[in-house]
Amino acid sequence: MSEPLRAARPVPESVLAELKTIVGFNGYLEDAADVDPFCKSWRDDFAGAVPLVLRPQTTEEVSGLVKCCARHGIPIVPQGGNTGLTGASQPRADMSEVIISTARMNKVREIDLDNDTLTVESGVVLQQIQSIADDNQRLFPLSLGAEGSCQIGGNLSTNAGGTQVLRYGNTRALILGLEVVLPNGEIWHGLRGLRKDNTGYDMKHLFIGAEGTLGIVTAAVLRLFPKPTASETAWMGLKSPKDAVSLLSHMRSRLGDQVSGFELMQRTIIDFVLEGVPGHEDPMTSQHAWYVLAEVTGQGEPGSLAEPFTNALGEAMELGLVDDAVIASSGAQAARFWKMREDMAEAQKAIGVGIKHDVSVPVSKIAEFIERANAALLERYEGLRTCAFGHVGDGNMHFNPMSPADWSRTETFRTEREPVNRIVHDLVVELGGSISAEHGIGRLRLDENMHYKSDVEVAMMRSVKQALDPQNIMNPGKVIRL
Ligand SMILES: Cc1cc2nc3c(=O)[nH]c(=O)nc-3n(C[C@H](O)[C@H](O)[C@H](O)COP(=O)(O)OP(=O)(O)OC[C@H]3O[C@@H](n4cnc5c(N)ncnc54)[C@H](O)[C@@H]3O)c2cc1C
Repeated sequence: MSEPLRAARPVPESVLAELKTIVGFNGYLEDAADVDPFCKSWRDDFAGAVPLVLRPQTTEEVSGLVKCCARHGIPIVPQGGNTGLTGASQPRADMSEVIISTARMNKVREIDLDNDTLTVESGVVLQQIQSIADDNQRLFPLSLGAEGSCQIGGNLSTNAGGTQVLRYGNTRALILGLEVVLPNGEIWHGLRGLRKDNTGYDMKHLFIGAEGTLGIVTAAVLRLFPKPTASETAWMGLKSPKDAVSLLSHMRSRLGDQVSGFELMQRTIIDFVLEGVPGHEDPMTSQHAWYVLAEVTGQGEPGSLAEPFTNALGEAMELGLVDDAVIASSGAQAARFWKMREDMAEAQKAIGVGIKHDVSVPVSKIAEFIERANAALLERYEGLRTCAFGHVGDGNMHFNPMSPADWSRTETFRTEREPVNRIVHDLVVELGGSISAEHGIGRLRLDENMHYKSDVEVAMMRSVKQALDPQNIMNPGKVIRL
């Protein structure tokens, strides 16, 4: 495929006028102060500039905007809650693109309790979806630190993971149907609430995880689950990731799929939260090298999981897998444990320069990965602060080495990104893992993606992109280099 067609010039005034007419006076932002926040990433590591942020309210408006952009060859950056961590929803800096924000596409279209489905527009905020499910005695299990601002369109476009993947799968597993505006402006009406549909290629899966490079998702049919009526949560201190993996196996042997959350955290990240985010206190008086936050949920009477959970924990202590444990005595205490886990991304932002990795390996290789990656990094960077935490039940670690404490904050550890990535990602690939487990590729991991994907896989991805978006106007420069 030839190089992408990119507008080398700012979007012409005449096109801006056409776009504004499609959405009307309340449907766009153009003043720099209003537009600026849409152009910056949550971590402040990516920034760009656009002449217009378009805020359509209906699928037809989105279609009209995309048709107009396609006619004039104007690249589009689709944007949801702008909480992504890979620069995927930031534009270029040359005013040649427009952002289409789904923030005003926020209607609930249908709730079908017999079918256990909820149909929403892509701009509905994840937390609102969780609340709607909860009000109807259902669970929408996607849960992550940014849930108060991220939108379901962004969640499915990044195939977000979060803390409940162990039991319910990632976003891909939670979506039954989609409505999408394609790069030529046509609307694909795929809002089917079916659990079985064997009629050929399952097109929705192309858009899930595509990071807005194949079309703009305007609505989705979501799967709902029974709302758990019993739950137990514990914060545990451990010696090593190896023990954590054995603990997971033990808990699952005793409690099966009721183990719904299982997060591993290194002591360093607990210190970062206590130092960088106000309002937290250490859940334990004793200090440990590693911690696990585990949750079990089920359908029995409230409290009915207490005994099996406590027994399983007691056995784990006898086996020497757990050194200390605090079982939450109330929902509020469990929520405080989870808040500490959720604030880990925020804490790292406050603490200083780290090089972030969002990797997965088979669960059986987690301990080997952490041990070997840390050893290799420490050999190269004396005093480097190792920092790992994540969804160990999914084999997914956020492996974020921080600059040695005696490096000044202005000295830029970020210039070490390339050699650090090579150490970490080469090992991940050697162990049969992935360089991006849940945050996606965006711009941050574009080079890494191109480095590690096979020629065959890159060729298939390029064919799909070219078939759907021959002009390359849909979020160009993200996910795959053409
Ligand atoms: C504190 C914090 C914690 C986080 N924790 C997790 C976590 O545990 N697990 C996890 O997976 N992620 C996590 N994230 C990352 C982020 O929240 C997710 O990637 C989320 O799914 C992004 O949703 P969004 O609405 O903010 O999307 P945006 O950031 O706006 O966009 C993300 C991508 O999706 C595209 N996009 C957005 N909407 C649409 C649409 N309607 N149609 C087509 N493309 C679209 C954009 O172009 C971009 O490529 C976290 C982020 C923060 C800040």
